[in-house]
Amino acid sequence: MTRAAPIKSVAIIGGGTAGWMTAAALSRTLDTRQTSVTLIESEQIGTVGVGEATLPNIATFNRMLGIDEPAFMAATHATIKYGIEFVDWGQKGESYFHPFGTHGADMDGISFHHYWRALKSRDPNTPPIESFCMTAMAAAAGKALMPQRDPRSPLSRLAYAFQFDATAYAAYLRDYSEARGVSRREGKVVDVSLRKNDGFISSVTMMDGTEIKADLFIDCSGFRSLLLGKALGTDYDDWSHYLPVNSAQAVPCEKVSPALPYTRCTAKRAGWQWRIPLQHRTGNGYVYASDYIDDDAVTTELLGSLGGTPTGEVKQLRFTTGQRKDFWVKNCIGLGLSAGFLEPLESTSIYLIQTGITKLLALFPDSDFKSVERDEYNKIMHKEFEQVRDFLMLHYIATKRNDDAFWDYVRTMPVPDSLQNKLDLFKGNGRFFRYDGDLFTETSWVAVFLGQNIMPEGYNPLVDAIEPQQLQDSLGSMQNAIAKAARAMPSHEDFLKQYGAIS
Ligand code: FAD
Repeated sequence: MTRAAPIKSVAIIGGGTAGWMTAAALSRTLDTRQTSVTLIESEQIGTVGVGEATLPNIATFNRMLGIDEPAFMAATHATIKYGIEFVDWGQKGESYFHPFGTHGADMDGISFHHYWRALKSRDPNTPPIESFCMTAMAAAAGKALMPQRDPRSPLSRLAYAFQFDATAYAAYLRDYSEARGVSRREGKVVDVSLRKNDGFISSVTMMDGTEIKADLFIDCSGFRSLLLGKALGTDYDDWSHYLPVNSAQAVPCEKVSPALPYTRCTAKRAGWQWRIPLQHRTGNGYVYASDYIDDDAVTTELLGSLGGTPTGEVKQLRFTTGQRKDFWVKNCIGLGLSAGFLEPLESTSIYLIQTGITKLLALFPDSDFKSVERDEYNKIMHKEFEQVRDFLMLHYIATKRNDDAFWDYVRTMPVPDSLQNKLDLFKGNGRFFRYDGDLFTETSWVAVFLGQNIMPEGYNPLVDAIEPQQLQDSLGSMQNAIAKAARAMPSHEDFLKQYGAIS
């Protein structure tokens, strides 16, 4: 069998988080002397300028690049993120924590929440499930530490992500990529040329007339979706009926208290508000459905609830929730906002970029662009988007809020079968199954189910093999060990200093 010629040139259009993450990963894995990598970005257009909270997977991405973690944290003003506090979601006045890591520990292969549910059915005063989660208790205490190696220590069950300045992250990755042979072109792309015979992209033309040819094009042009959407005409699956928010206003404010090691999402009129503490400032934003609330009312509410003086202008953003019908079309792959967008309620967008890059590396094409590989990529990425969509929807359909028309709509909206099945399984005996490739763990789903008052009727009957007193003692000592470990941890700010992560 003769092998098709290798790809000789890659052009990345766009230098936001997606563009520079892609450039960094390619410069790490390709020999840029054999395969040239060019990134085009326009300072005049700029980037979306938001996207500060991440998932634990980002640490794996940085490790793959060989990045020194404390140096990266200092350069991006990063803080530790142990999860998300959801305020007023189940109903007003309630809150819960979606932690990274695990609740308790599996005992005999049965998930911890079954034991917790058994105890709760006997004693309604059983503490909330997050009392049995190391990460949640560390977050509540404002403490931080890296996961410890000793598997007997509750500190081995810590899991973390970062809250960082996304613009600084892109700049950091730019230095990394340029040092490894990526060439950057400044300027605006004004035209995209397609080959007559097969419709593949042959080149892009810049404002100054320069034509840039490549074998493979990566569209990281943000919401404009210059190549995948505009030039190749790839349709968009609009998911607004499932997730009707379509606007956001974002504004940073000064830091007024020690940075918390978690993100807060507070349910509000026709949407919700985020609060993301960085080392030097706090990021804030109000995500909302413009059919249900005026922009001006959002600005007033946002500015009135910052808790610190704003350090910039309020930025207005519009979007349509959904995904491209295909992410890889001909010789073009869309990554980042050009491929689709789901509201940042669970900080999933940077993860979706990362997983798109990982799958691209796994399926990196030869110059013959085998359609079977392209189809596989599209299938995997659709599944990724759909499972994130379902998890986000859970937060809305599991609410009891009925204080405005928006909450009435989302509480009662039609649910995809994939999500309905998860709900039915959990409501019975608390069953949950995570399939290969699923992003969110059982702990994540259980945290939102229970946090928003979906209490399973029963639990795995195998739990009844344990004597009730033994179960109570065992969970009691687990809770004590976690509380003790949390007390002994350094404060988040002290940890950042000790780790060498302060900018
Ligand atoms: P952009 O940052 O928009 O970059 C596009 C690039 O393309 C820019 O460099 C631009 O100059 C270039 N470009 C465009 N047109 C041209 C042209 N004609 N010629 C040359 N260059 C061009 N994600 C998270 O993971 N966590 C979060 O907490 C989070 N919060 C968010 C909050 C909001 C309100 C929004 C809208 C998004 C949020 N996201 C979040 C998503 C996150 O911001 C994006 O996934 C991430 O920033 C990647 O964006 P991007 O690189 O695709 O696009």
